[in-house]
Amino acid sequence: MAARGFMPAAEGDALWNAGRDAVRSVVGRPLLEVGSYCGKSTVWLGAAARAGGTVLFAVDHHRGSEENQPGWEWHEPDLVDPAVGRLDTLPVFRRTVHAAGLEDVVVAVVGQSPVVAAHWSTPLALVFIDGGHGAEPAHRDYEGWSPHVAPGGLLCIHDVFPDPADGGRPPFEIYRRALESGRFEEERAVGSLRVLRRLV
Ligand code: SAH
Ligand code: MG
Repeated sequence: MAARGFMPAAEGDALWNAGRDAVRSVVGRPLLEVGSYCGKSTVWLGAAARAGGTVLFAVDHHRGSEENQPGWEWHEPDLVDPAVGRLDTLPVFRRTVHAAGLEDVVVAVVGQSPVVAAHWSTPLALVFIDGGHGAEPAHRDYEGWSPHVAPGGLLCIHDVFPDPADGGRPPFEIYRRALESGRFEEERAVGSLRVLRRLV
């Protein structure tokens, strides 16, 4: 089954490579994704987790971001749960993970990212931030999750557009914040994906 979503194949491959790198650099620690939608990026990171003998936590409330709501650019009407009147991507996400044979390595965490982050304590080999792209959610994801990247591990940020004409600012802002914090250095850039390494 072709997974629905927004990640081009070259960026997915780069994400897979980052996952493989991370589990070698930080042995025994899991990967975590913020923003799964229908599971497209999840499949690349889940495959890397499987190859590295670890697991992927996939955090999403599955109600969609602002741009997925009715009337917005990225709305898909067939993903609305009619009983609730809101988006529900969890059923499609589960089908994607099942079809990829990754149910034993992908652990869905259904909830709001800042709430999960506030209770999280396991150091992570890799964090992939691709949740809400508004200023508030993006900065909260950076603040909530970047401290959990283990030294030597990787922080990946999607939809980073240096030119404002190409897309929204918040993912670019948190990428700059990570570099300016002195805690991360840039490792790779593929399309709008940035791979940063946590310094030891
Ligand atoms: N990584 C996916 C696309 C993710 S789209 C891919 O490349 O295929 C962004 C997702 O972030 C949406 O599914 C939305 O529900 C989720 N999201 C947005 N804000 C969130 C928040 N505060 N907490 C949890 N999930 C959130
Ligand atoms: Mg994205």
